Amino acid sequence: MMNYLIISIIVFFSFFIQDKPKIIQRHLAEKCSRNRTANDDISRIMLHFCSIAPEEPSNPYDLDKILALFEQNGVSAHYIIDRNGQIYELVSEQRVAYHAGKGKLPFSPSFENSMNGHSIGIEMMAIGSEKDMMMFMPKERYAQIDKKFIGFTNAQYESLNWLLADIMSRYPDIRKDRQHIVGHSEYATLRRTDPGELFDWKKIGL
Ligand SMILES: [Zn+2]
Repeated sequence: MMNYLIISIIVFFSFFIQDKPKIIQRHLAEKCSRNRTANDDISRIMLHFCSIAPEEPSNPYDLDKILALFEQNGVSAHYIIDRNGQIYELVSEQRVAYHAGKGKLPFSPSFENSMNGHSIGIEMMAIGSEKDMMMFMPKERYAQIDKKFIGFTNAQYESLNWLLADIMSRYPDIRKDRQHIVGHSEYATLRRTDPGELFDWKKIGL
C-alpha cells in the first residue's frame, strides 16, 4: 500500500515536471544588463520580435548571430523564443535587461523612459509584415524572405503562453491585460513596430 502511494506521488509530480518546458541558459555579457535596484519593481511584460532578416534574408534566425548582434549593441531581453518554441534565458530576472529603451506608455506615463526597470522583456524570433519591416529593410530585400519565416509559429505561442503564466506567478503586479502585457511599439512608437500586426494577441488570451 505504502509503495503504491509513493509511486503514485512520483508519477503525479513527474507529470508536472514534464509539463514545464526546458529553458536553456544563454546568458549575455553583463554590459547588456544591470543590477536591479529597489526602484525597479516589476509590473509589466514587454513583447518583441527579432531576426537578422535585414542582413541575411535567407537565414534570418541564426541564434548565435542574433545574440552577437545584441552584445555588439549592448542590448538584451530576459528571454528569447525560437521558431520551435525553445525558450532561452538571456538575462536573469534578477537583473534589468536593456530591451525597451526610451519611450512612454500612453496609459502609464509615469514609466516614461524607465520601462527596462519595470518589465520583463521577451523576444520572439519573428519577422513582421512588409509594413512592420519597412523601417529596417528595403522592400526588395523583404521580398527575398521565404514566406515560412514571416510571422509567428504555433510552437512560439504555446511557449509564450507557458512563459507568461510562469512570470506572472512570480510577479503578482503583472495583471493579464493589455495595460500590463504590452508591445514594444506601444512604448517606442516612432522607433519600433514589434511585435507587429502579424502577432495575434488573441492567441495569448488578450
Ligand atoms: Zn523590440
